Amino acid sequence: MAKPKPPIRKLLAVLGDQLNADAAVWREADPRVDVAWMAEVAEESTHVPSHQARTALFLSAMRHFRDERRAAGWTVDYRELDEPANAGSLAAELRQAIARWRPQCVEVVRPGEWRVQIALEQACRDEGRALRILEDDHFYASLDDFRRHAAGRKQLRQEFFYRELRQRHGVLMAGGKPIGGAWNFDRENRGSFGKQGPPAHPAPRGFAPDATTRGAIRAVAARFANHPGDLSLFDWPVTRHDALAALDDFIACRLPRFGEYQDAMWTGEPYLFHARLSAALNLKLLNPREAVDAAVEAYHGQRAPLPAVEGFVRQILGWREYVRGIYGVEMPAYAQRNALGADQPLPAFYWTGETDMRCLSDALGQTLRIGYAHHIQRLMVTGLFALLLGVEPLQVHAWYLSVYVDAVEWVELPNTLGMSQYADGGLMASKPYAATGSYIQRMSNYCGQCRFRPTAREGSDACPFTVLYWDFLARNRRLLEANPRMKLQVRNLDRLDAQELAAVRRLADRWRRALAAGKSAP
Ligand code: FAD
Ligand code: SF4
Repeated sequence: MAKPKPPIRKLLAVLGDQLNADAAVWREADPRVDVAWMAEVAEESTHVPSHQARTALFLSAMRHFRDERRAAGWTVDYRELDEPANAGSLAAELRQAIARWRPQCVEVVRPGEWRVQIALEQACRDEGRALRILEDDHFYASLDDFRRHAAGRKQLRQEFFYRELRQRHGVLMAGGKPIGGAWNFDRENRGSFGKQGPPAHPAPRGFAPDATTRGAIRAVAARFANHPGDLSLFDWPVTRHDALAALDDFIACRLPRFGEYQDAMWTGEPYLFHARLSAALNLKLLNPREAVDAAVEAYHGQRAPLPAVEGFVRQILGWREYVRGIYGVEMPAYAQRNALGADQPLPAFYWTGETDMRCLSDALGQTLRIGYAHHIQRLMVTGLFALLLGVEPLQVHAWYLSVYVDAVEWVELPNTLGMSQYADGGLMASKPYAATGSYIQRMSNYCGQCRFRPTAREGSDACPFTVLYWDFLARNRRLLEANPRMKLQVRNLDRLDAQELAAVRRLADRWRRALAAGKSAP
């Protein structure tokens, strides 16, 4: 087939998290007259200091995708990170690609991240080319679906959007009703492990780096060695083939107990019964329908119980679609929200894991090492501590965007600002996820190995979570007491003796001042 020559018809901009060959941008293109453009640029790893495994994953997956597309007959104009001419940013690289190919227009599937969309729009304006943005049909719901759902509602709640999508797509439905007679089985899905620890489970399937991945790892090590992460542990799925194998492995080995233990934590056990599929989904190596259908099939084949399957489906068809909707309709103002007026700096130990708090040292240590922590570690350990301490939401956001292999802003930001920090004042979550150390004690074995006591709120062994919890309630009392779902917690605050509360708040203040000064404890 004759290769296109400049001037071409369309330049197809393909971003690092758009690695699906069935995307609209490919469907509407012709390899004889259109050219695809992809670029690895330092800016995407440095606007926040991206975890080394995250950058290696993106680079490797992009290079594999480039090779597959070329093998399928497409011309892919591809810029590698370490090419001397690399301009360092997507906008600068796109401007050069437009100058090289002189396309009539540029097409792109709607970028997930607001910042990237603005950059591409500006580059096309600078070069006098129209940018055509195609809607992203990787998701179950379009942004217009979400807008329609949101229109006229006083409150947005994941649960209602989730039910709407289940009905529309007929997922776990029979005769217009949810299978099993209920929309959720949360009560059965809150198990912890007890003293004996997690039942035997195989480690998730890992993917040994091939030559392409090894090249990506070398490029990252040469450029970003000072970013968090240990590249010697890299074993993430980087191709569609790997991603489908990772899905099969989860369905066969971990899905049956996913629901029961989805909130549980255990020292040195990062994955437990979780899917480890978020990065593959976010890069679009895997389609959410594939993940949902595989789980539903396991239920019908009696290979997994309904609470586990519904719990997993809810994460993808519910939470994932919902947070995308929130980001899509609320940005860019959303990123600036700070309903609780939180203004503390992020403690320095978030970048080292060095703290006596066992729950945090475990969750932070594994995060910094492998770029993964499961949802409850993110929400109820690292997120909870930042919430109770009153860390400025933008600093919390920058940290979460840096340290996870699956970090992409459209999913990270609403989870961080909305769900974990309550910075949107309740748009996303109906109440702050505030709890004492007793929650962590119930859901893990961390406290048994810690120098603090989860129930103590005074003295040298007072658990900082518990101390900061009471201080958080007292500090934000006016805002919280207006929320009917916080009534009980505020009432409990009123039961505390005034002198005791004052002592707890003094201790909280000592923690805040010590951490703000870069120390690990008062
Ligand atoms: P599992 O627990 O096995 O869940 C299955 C799938 O459901 C995940 O792969 C994911 O695609 C989806 N999912 C689960 N929970 C959520 C959720 N709350 N929002 C959206 N999708 C969800 N997820 C990201 O993909 N990228 C992020 O940058 C990210 N940042 C987060 C920040 C905070 C503060 C919190 C509380 C959560 C964040 N999450 C993020 C959501 C969730 O924690 C991860 O998707 C999950 O831990 C990934 O691991 P897993 O694939 O083993 O997921
Ligand atoms: Fe974490 Fe407090 Fe438990 Fe220690 S006692 S592990 S700080 S919750």
